[in-house]
Amino acid sequence: SKSVTPLIAGNWKMNGLARESAAELTALVERMKAVAPAACDVLICPPATLVREMATLAEGSGVAIGGQDCHANESGAHTGDISAEMLKDAGATYCLVGHSERRTDHGESNDTVKAKAEAALRAGLIAVVCVGETLDEREQGRTLDVIAEQVTHSLPSGATAANTVVAYEPVWAIGTGKTPTPADVAEVHAHIRSTLAGKADASDAMRILYGGSVKGSNAAELMALENVNGGLVGGASLKAADFWPIVETG
Ligand code: PEP
Repeated sequence: SKSVTPLIAGNWKMNGLARESAAELTALVERMKAVAPAACDVLICPPATLVREMATLAEGSGVAIGGQDCHANESGAHTGDISAEMLKDAGATYCLVGHSERRTDHGESNDTVKAKAEAALRAGLIAVVCVGETLDEREQGRTLDVIAEQVTHSLPSGATAANTVVAYEPVWAIGTGKTPTPADVAEVHAHIRSTLAGKADASDAMRILYGGSVKGSNAAELMALENVNGGLVGGASLKAADFWPIVETG
């Protein structure tokens, strides 16, 4: 559904110290202001240490700021964790949940991801729920089943097109320079769209992002695909000069 406003999102992961990050965000904000209003929504998810400062720098520019993860609880005895309410308080309007690096490095299950997504909604954040198959699962022909299972069990209850975004990120394509063929991306996105039907309000309008080695040279082809409503970008989001050409395809 290309009537939906696309979302081009950058995930900085565990990268960024204050000075350089402020310079890159400022460069992005300046480009955004020059084209205002932009044709797509733009989101940067910095490390939690920089959310407040990036949100202040981005204010009024059309660049939204998001967390990369949140705890399922609002507050309490969870040393080292950060709640959705804290991210909101720091100026975030979105939060990624269930990124494959969280699922792998922190053993997050679909149930965990769902609880985090529900915490994000409760705090008034838009949840970006990440799903994706491993190389093994793809080679075994299990991709569509794995994705449907993840979408079904990770989606927050009360999901709507306004409060939830799905990001399809094949694990084997993240940070590897490899991408599925456009036909493979289109197939998975169509499958996600049909899986969402009946499980989320206004599911036809829910944004489904593609992520995994998106860069300036492949973004236009990927973003043009049916049921691809934007992208989630890791490495190529760190520098405004790399990220901007991707934003322009949204
Ligand atoms: C990501 O981590 O969400 C991602 C897609 O990374 P990269 O663009 O670097 O593959």
